[in-house]
Amino acid sequence: MPKLVNLGSLCIDHVYRVPAFTGPGETVSSLTHEVFPGGKGLNQSIAAARAGIDVVHVGCVGEDGGWLTDTLSAEGIDVSGLRVAEGASGHAMIQVNESGENAIVIFGGTNRTLARDDMETALARVERGDWLMLQNEINDLDLVLRLAGERGCQVAFNVAPVDGREAGYDLSCVGLLIVNEIEASALAGTDATGDDWSGVMAALGERAPKAAIVLTLGADGLVYRDETGLTTFPAYAVTAVDETAAGDAFIGFLMGSLIQGESMESALRMGSAAGALAVTQAGAASSLPAVADVRGLVQTGP
Ligand code: ADP
Repeated sequence: MPKLVNLGSLCIDHVYRVPAFTGPGETVSSLTHEVFPGGKGLNQSIAAARAGIDVVHVGCVGEDGGWLTDTLSAEGIDVSGLRVAEGASGHAMIQVNESGENAIVIFGGTNRTLARDDMETALARVERGDWLMLQNEINDLDLVLRLAGERGCQVAFNVAPVDGREAGYDLSCVGLLIVNEIEASALAGTDATGDDWSGVMAALGERAPKAAIVLTLGADGLVYRDETGLTTFPAYAVTAVDETAAGDAFIGFLMGSLIQGESMESALRMGSAAGALAVTQAGAASSLPAVADVRGLVQTGP
């Protein structure tokens, strides 16, 4: 069976429960401090592995990040291409207020110190039928995209989060583009008209001409575009507790199902069910579902 090679971010999430977010010049005492594994790359690797495929995760952690590597290993993920670099691992300071809203400061750390050798390590692992998975949390994605295009890799790109760099990316090698509504508008350079996303999807199609495109819309489901046109899929009805990592659960199970030979329609349903289950649990990596629960929800229907 083909595998997923994820050249992706890993992050240490520090979560602070505060009575209210700090304002300018203010100091706030946190009621609690918890530390979780996170980062879009790490979350997506774990979700894909739980979906039942082989995953190779390539990237960089700092000396404080050995436990992130262990977290991936514990899920059966191949971490032989993960490098320990100087400096701090990618990390986030997440304030959660009494209403459950969050305010986040993120530092890229070693996720932004990938060298050409790390890229070559990832590309060398991509064999016929495999997918290279990318998110927008590492440095020099323009170079990664160019090298992947030259080698003829199948590339899935989750352009998240958007930070301005995406405007310059050459997406001609991308086979599967996955974005949420904010990312879609930024990448397309245009907004939806009401809830009509067809203009945005067409603009994305021009940016990434070879790509099938998935636009996720949270509780409103998703829009899928390929050469046959646009299709919409509803979300599964759940009680949302915390939307963190819904997109990562979605992507991991989508890729896991595709790589196991399922149709795009079936893979989109698995992804949607995984995203829905992720919002019923608090946290990032800790909210990623098990495959049996995802299958159970797909059988129940939206
Ligand atoms: P992101 O986390 O990247 O913003 P979304 O919020 O669009 O991604 O979520 C990805 C997918 O997860 C959605 O397309 C949907 O299928 C599912 N999902 C997300 N939020 C909910 C929700 N509140 N209820 C049901 N499904 C959800």
